[in-house]
Amino acid sequence: MSNIETRNNSERLGSNLGTPPEESPESSSSFIVPDPVAKNPALSQLDIMNKMLSLTCMEELIKIPSRGRFYPAGHPFASREDIYINVMTSKEQDILSSKVKWQENKVFESLLVSLLKDRVDPGTILSGDRMAIFAAARITLKHTYETNGMCPICRTITHQVFNLTEALDAAFEELRVKEENMKPFEMGAISKGGSIDTFITELPATKMLAEFRLLYGIHEDMLMKKKAKTDADIARAKTAEEKSSIKETDLTDILKVMVVSLSLPSGEKTSEPGVLAKIIERLPGRDTVYLQEMYKYVAPELQLQEIKCCPKCLQSTHWGIPYTDFFRPS
Ligand SMILES: [Zn+2]
Repeated sequence: MSNIETRNNSERLGSNLGTPPEESPESSSSFIVPDPVAKNPALSQLDIMNKMLSLTCMEELIKIPSRGRFYPAGHPFASREDIYINVMTSKEQDILSSKVKWQENKVFESLLVSLLKDRVDPGTILSGDRMAIFAAARITLKHTYETNGMCPICRTITHQVFNLTEALDAAFEELRVKEENMKPFEMGAISKGGSIDTFITELPATKMLAEFRLLYGIHEDMLMKKKAKTDADIARAKTAEEKSSIKETDLTDILKVMVVSLSLPSGEKTSEPGVLAKIIERLPGRDTVYLQEMYKYVAPELQLQEIKCCPKCLQSTHWGIPYTDFFRPS
C-alpha cells in the first residue's frame, strides 16, 4: 500500500518539476503518512500500542442511589454521591461469558472488581448501589436493552426494547422524590436501629419490634448460593416425591438475612441467629409482607421501569425492566 503511494507521489512530482526526484526513501517519505515501524520496529510498536491503549481507558462518573449513606467511615463509598467506573470492554465481557465464574457464582463479584476504579470489596457494596453500577455499565455497551418483558396487567410476555438511560434517570428522580417525602423516621412507623444500616419497626400482627438491615453484596451472594444449591437439588431429584421434598425458601432466606433482632413489647430481645430463624419461619404473612414493604420504603434502591403499551390487552402502564439477560448484548 505505502509503496504504491510513494510511487504515485514521485511520478506526479516528477512531471510537475520536469526533473525526476531521487528515488530515496528519505525524500519520498515526506509525501506519505509516516510509517514509524520502518525506522525502529520495537519502539514504534510500543508507542503505537500505548497510543491506542490511551484511547481505551474510558471511565464514567456515575451516581449511586445510597449517596454514600449507610457506609462506615473509611469505606471508599462513604459520603460519596458518585463514583467512577470503567466502561465495559472485552475483559468484562469475558468475565460474563466465563462458565467457571457462573458455576462458582463469582460473575458479579468479578465484574464489580473489574468495573470499579476504587478498590472496594464487592461484598461491602449495598445491593441498590450494585444494581445501579450494573445498569450504568450496561449502558456503556448500549443504551437500549432488548428482552422479554411482562405486562403487569395481563401478564403476557412479549419482546420489548427498553431505553435504559431514560429508565435510569427516571428511577433516580423517583428515588429523590420518595426520599424527600419520607416522614422523619422517629415520627413514623419506623425508627433508626442500633447500627448505621439498621431500622426498627413494629410488626402489625405479633407486635414484636423487628430490627432489620439493608442488604449488601455479601448477603446477596449468600442468597444466590443458597438458591443455586436448591436449584441444583431440584435438578438432581429423580422422582416427584424427591422434588417435592426440597423446600424452596426464597422469602424466609431473605428475611433471615435481613432481620438482626426481635424484641417483645415487654423488652425481652434476641439477636441469636438460630432463635431468629425459628421465629421467622413461623411469622404470620401479615408481618412478613409488612417487613418487605418497610424494607422497600427505606432501601436506597432504583426501580427500573418504562411505560409500555401491551400488544395483547392494549393498556399502557409502567413495566418493570427485568435484569435477566442484562449483559447479553442485543
Ligand atoms: Zn397486557
